[in-house]
This record gives sequence, structure tokens and C-alpha cells, in this order.
Amino acid sequence: TPAKPLDFIREIVAQDLKSGKHDGRVQTRFPPEPNGYLHIGHAKAICLNFGIAKEFGGRCNLRFDDTNPTKEETEYVDSIKEDVRWLGFEWDEEHYASDYFEQLYEWAEALIQKGLAYVDSGSLDEIRAQRGTVNEPGTPSPFRERSVEENLDLFRRMRAGEFPNGAHVLRAKIDMAAGNMNLRDPIMYRILHTHHHRTGDKWCLYPIYDWAHGQSDSIEKITHSICTLEFEIHRPLYEWYIEHLDIFPSRQYEFARLNLTYMVMSKRKLLELVQAKLVEGWDDPRMPTIAGLRRRGYTPESLRNFCHTIGVTKYPGTTDISVLENSLRDDLNRRAERRMAVLDPIKVVITNYPEGTSEELEAVNHPQDESFGTRTIPFGREIYIEREDFMEDPPKKFFRLSPGKEVRMRYAYFIKCEEVIKNDQGEITEIHCTYDPETKGGNAPDGRKVKATLHWVSVADAVDAEVRLYDHLFEVENPNDVPEGGDFKDHLNPNSLQLLEHAKLEPQLSSAQEGERFQFERMGYFCCDRTSTTERPVFNRAVTLRDTWAK
Ligand code: ATP
Ligand code: MG
Ligand code: MG
Repeated sequence: TPAKPLDFIREIVAQDLKSGKHDGRVQTRFPPEPNGYLHIGHAKAICLNFGIAKEFGGRCNLRFDDTNPTKEETEYVDSIKEDVRWLGFEWDEEHYASDYFEQLYEWAEALIQKGLAYVDSGSLDEIRAQRGTVNEPGTPSPFRERSVEENLDLFRRMRAGEFPNGAHVLRAKIDMAAGNMNLRDPIMYRILHTHHHRTGDKWCLYPIYDWAHGQSDSIEKITHSICTLEFEIHRPLYEWYIEHLDIFPSRQYEFARLNLTYMVMSKRKLLELVQAKLVEGWDDPRMPTIAGLRRRGYTPESLRNFCHTIGVTKYPGTTDISVLENSLRDDLNRRAERRMAVLDPIKVVITNYPEGTSEELEAVNHPQDESFGTRTIPFGREIYIEREDFMEDPPKKFFRLSPGKEVRMRYAYFIKCEEVIKNDQGEITEIHCTYDPETKGGNAPDGRKVKATLHWVSVADAVDAEVRLYDHLFEVENPNDVPEGGDFKDHLNPNSLQLLEHAKLEPQLSSAQEGERFQFERMGYFCCDRTSTTERPVFNRAVTLRDTWAK
């Protein structure tokens, strides 16, 4: 990766190292909530947190922010670990916010003892109403002046399970007139009689994100707690808790989250697509999830390069999805072997090719890189070409095959169209051509030129395959932007998946393994799907050869 000036967060880290803050220690963390699969936005946060640790000789933890038992599952924990590793990162320590529940509880009691937290027995609606608005101060809760003894007694009984959901909450006692709404006596705990994926039924009291997050950072002695801009307004609260508990002073820094055109990125929305079966699952190749991108054919390098390219700033914005696609194109152009595949076949019969014979032709695996070597491909009297490469009645600028026209078959011969065969419905069933045996390898000894080179597959040796072409999942640039009463799902692109069930592949491709990527000449980059078998290979198009949207 090319050298680039440091982004503002790396500047801060470099400064802190220079000034000797934290004794030259750099400790970051990536803190996903295990309530869904990771997406490309998370990849940005992963590259940032793990990248900084790596570049500055620091450490990075993986911490599951599992404080909300109703939405979290072990399946998500496992997928998150797989995806972080696949992206090329390894965490130093693995933690769970739920491991800190006991410590958090003790700290909550400590705040009660200091008169800095109280049990509120009002309803959530009442508490919300007390908060006031940005322009007017809030009103103190009638429970705000409860005694330390009463608060402690109630809080212990909350933990013991004596009260139903919603009966009480614990609130920090800060300032109901604070300009920052987050400081108007925020809730720290709620009662939830719910099974947790790790702590089981041990707790019926669960901490709110703001109460758990900073304290978890502090327990792990995180030096730079990096999060997205929405949390900037939470920073005073983050610092208030740390200050009043007098614990390790982790510091929070905010950067702009990644948004992509033609895509939604919130886990809630992605889950909705999965649950409504509008996509095949979390790893549907149209999804922005790491699992989906991997299945689509993205490489870890292409995602890391993408994150490097977009950089890290404080300014919210939306990145054009073509930037992501280009990073894959660049990477696969370098690493993918070339093959021939006809996605929508039509048969060509070479009438002057000796019947009952065939031959093996040599083809290069990568035109720009000899180290990829060569392979042989069978050629015979009958071949498939792409239906769109033939026109019976072509416009002037159509240089591919048409009656009387001569074109080159890649790695093979010149062929010339002599006759079009049709069925009773008038549909073309075969194209009859002649070939020039003198043009083997693709050049005519008499120096005559052709204007097109087409890909093809031998009929006798072709492997039948299923090929899936993808377009953007949404048909508008910003699917989050919906009119009153509308829904982001209204913007789904009905043509985001095109199934080609009669594709013909060169025989070598029958041995392709799940996740193997190729360039199908002239058609794009393709990745062997997990549903693929030797009998019936399945390929997903990862990306086209050129950016067809940039017109
Ligand atoms: P979502 O809004 O998709 O549900 P989240 O922020 O709730 O995302 P978390 O699991 O809490 O999801 O995210 C873990 C980390 O990844 C957080 O530090 C968060 O700031 C970061 N992150 C999440 N989405 C993005 C994004 N689009 N761009 C950059 N970082 C992100
Ligand atoms: Mg979150
Ligand atoms: Mg979320």
C-alpha cells in the first residue's frame, strides 16, 4: 500500500506516543454488538483499530458488546470472529462486556454510595418527558432525592429479581439542566428478565450501552477508544463516569462512519432483509456484509485496500459504491486466472472442420503475468459462442459475428459466418461457419485483419453451469431516504439478480473450488459459489470488467 499522510486519529496516536502518554502504550479494541453479521462499515472500523495497533506496536482486543440480551446470539459471535480473521486480523484478547457485569454492578453501587445514582420508579414515558427539550431544561424526577440507603436497598432487590420488567431503573444523578441531553440523569440499568447468550439467567438487570461501554474500555485499559461520530455527543457522559469512578482514563475519538451509495448499512435493516427473505441470507452476494462480499468474490486485500483508499475523517459523507468495486477489479485483475465461459450460449457449427476430430489449443492463464503459465483447451467442429456476439442483421458498428463476416476465435482460428439455421418459430438455433486452418493461433499468413475476437467453448467438452449476475441491491442512490409512510425496502432493485442456468464453461472449470476466482474473458470476474458441485458448477459474478455505471 502506498504511503499516505497520517489521518487525524493516527496523528493523535503518534502525538500521544511522542509525549509519553500511557507510557508509550497503544491499546485499541473493536467492539461489535453480536446482533448481526459484520458489514463493510465494520471493516472500516476493524482496519482502523487493528491497523493502528499493528502500525504503532500496540494491541487490539476484540470485545463483544453483549449488553442487550434480547437481540444477541452465539451465531453472530462466531460469524464475527470468522470475518475479522478472514479480513486478516488477529486480536490480542477476546472479551465480552457481559464478563464485566459484576464489576459494573459494584461500580453502580459505588456511585449510589456517593449520591451520584438513584433508583427511579417512574415509567419510561415519564422519564422521557422529564428530559425536556434542547431549549428547555428537564424536570427532576420525583425519585431523584431518594436516600442512599433506600437506593441501595432497591437496587439490590432489583438484582435479586424481586421486580418485574419496567418497575425501576437506575439513573445517574448528573444535571437535569445540562445543555447536553445525555447528561440529564441518563439511565444506567433496566430490569429485563431475559436469558443472555453467555450469562444465562444469572442477571435480570442489564446495563445500558453508555454505562457499559466506557467502563469496559477502562477495565481493558484502552488508550484510544475509537468510535463513529454519533457518539461524539455521548463523550461528556463517557468522561463523567470515568472521572467519578476514578478509574483508568480511556479516551474516546470519533470518526465518520462509512456509507455507500445504493446500499443500506444498518444491521437492523440488513436483518429485516434476511428475515423477510428478500435476500438469500446474511451471506447473499448482494449484501454489504463481509460474508456476502466474500461469497461474491471479494478478497480480504481488496477490502483492506478499499478502507485505505477512503481514509478516515471527521466529515460525514457517502462513498460511491464504484470505489469499492474498483478496489476488487484492481485486485482480481492481478490475481485471477483467465478462463473462457459462455453465459448465454448459441451453437456454431464449423462445416469444413473434419468430422469426428478435435484438437487441444494452448491458452495463457494471465496475459500480463507469465508466471501464471498456460493451459490447453479443446477445440472441435461445434463450439458455443455468446448469443449477443451474433447479429443476423447488424447495425454498421457491430464488428462481431454476422452473415458473411469473419472474426477471430480466441486462441483458435478465424471463422466466417456462412448460414443461419432457424427453427419453425424463426428462432436461430445454429450458426454455420467455415474456418481458415491457416489462421491457427489467431493470425492470418496473408495479413488480413478481423475486428473482433470472441470467446467460445467446445460443445463436446463444455461443462454445464449456473451463473449468477448481480446488480445493485437497491435502485436508488440513497435507499435510506424514504418518503413519509414509505420504507427502505420499497427501493429494492427487482433486477438485482439475473440467473443464467445454461452457461457453458471450458472443462478445466469443473474442478473449481468454493471461493476460487477467475476472470471469464470479456464477461467479468467470477467466484465459485458454496453451492457449486463438480457435476454442476455455480459461479457468482463478483464484478464486471469495467465500471458500467460510470457513463
Ligand atoms: P449498525 O448501525 O450497523 O447496527 P453499530 O454501530 O450498531 O452498527 P456495532 O456492532 O456496535 O454496530 O459496531 C461495532 C463497531 O463498528 C463500532 O465501533 C462502530 O462504531 C463501528 N461501525 C459500525 N458501523 C460502521 C460504519 N458504517 N462505518 C464505520 N464504522 C462502523
Ligand atoms: Mg453499536
Ligand atoms: Mg446498531
